[in-house]
Amino acid sequence: MDLGDIGEFGLIDRFRKWTSSSAPALVQGIGDDVAVMEMGSRTLLATTDILIEGIDFERSWLDPYRLGKKSLAVNLSDIAAMGGTPKYFLISLGLPKHLPLSFISRFYRGLRETARRHRVDLVGGDTSLSEKIVINICLLGEAKKKYLVFRKGARVGDELYVSGTLGDSALGLKILQKEGLQEKPGPLIERHLSPCPRVRLGQALAENRCATAMIDVSDGLLSDTRHIMEESGVGAMIWENRIPLSPSYRRMSPLYSKNPVHMALSGGEDYELLFTASPEKRKRIISLSHSLKIPITCVGRILPKAKKLLIARKDGTTYVPSRFGFDHFK
Ligand code: ADP
Ligand code: MG
Repeated sequence: MDLGDIGEFGLIDRFRKWTSSSAPALVQGIGDDVAVMEMGSRTLLATTDILIEGIDFERSWLDPYRLGKKSLAVNLSDIAAMGGTPKYFLISLGLPKHLPLSFISRFYRGLRETARRHRVDLVGGDTSLSEKIVINICLLGEAKKKYLVFRKGARVGDELYVSGTLGDSALGLKILQKEGLQEKPGPLIERHLSPCPRVRLGQALAENRCATAMIDVSDGLLSDTRHIMEESGVGAMIWENRIPLSPSYRRMSPLYSKNPVHMALSGGEDYELLFTASPEKRKRIISLSHSLKIPITCVGRILPKAKKLLIARKDGTTYVPSRFGFDHFK
């Protein structure tokens, strides 16, 4: 058996079995967007993400400035998914010897801008030689424990919501792969290159106790819904015709995909927030959406576990999806 047989998530399940920790201060280990530890009276959040040239990005599409911004943004998105506040980060870099210094200075300019916008500080890292660029950030944050939102809190009868629009990043990537980077990237390509982590929204949902479970959409709507389902021990139904699509996506997706709805269901890297909430919270969620000026759409409902994940078509018939979303090893 190799990694291709079990996939990224089968592998993570094994990490979990091999490394189970029983430290009393550990609130959440492997299995959520961030690890959560109690440190005295405070609650520490920690998350890490790796970006590898040729796998997670191409130097020909992603300029160093945007690469710096994105490297931090993907970590911020995981803290957002808990309703936490990001604070400090460390960055480790593997760099080719003949990389121009100007590449790194532009990379750090992007990093610094995103750090400033989200009020986080770079406090260290590590540097080594590598054939391809490798970027690993470890971001630390904090939260009030009582407000934290985990993947495991969804209950039968909850509604399933998503912020923003879906599929834009996946379509942006498709356009990049086909046509390369244009002088002025359009909104779809920009969504792929410069994701906006929903930190403020995550905090607002948490502080207003609107969400029972939450995750950021990094692997795709279906895949990330499945993570909530597995951690919460529930099933879910998603209505295809409710998936929020941007005007650009509606216009361009038929040119690049035979099945535009499927691309929006399974496309990764939108970095929106996906959360579940009791129907009583509907009004509160709508008012948060208005005050933060971030669209939030109800796309489904939480069902008993036996129902697994069902997708409802426009005509009311349902199906069980066979492909879920991005997996590094599949
Ligand atoms: P996300 O998409 O939110 O970044 P991942 O799917 O990467 O989350 O990871 C899911 C869980 O698995 C997280 O709790 C993460 O810390 C853990 N994880 C991922 N890779 C490893 C690893 N190599 N060793 C231990 N835990 C890991
Ligand atoms: Mg995540």
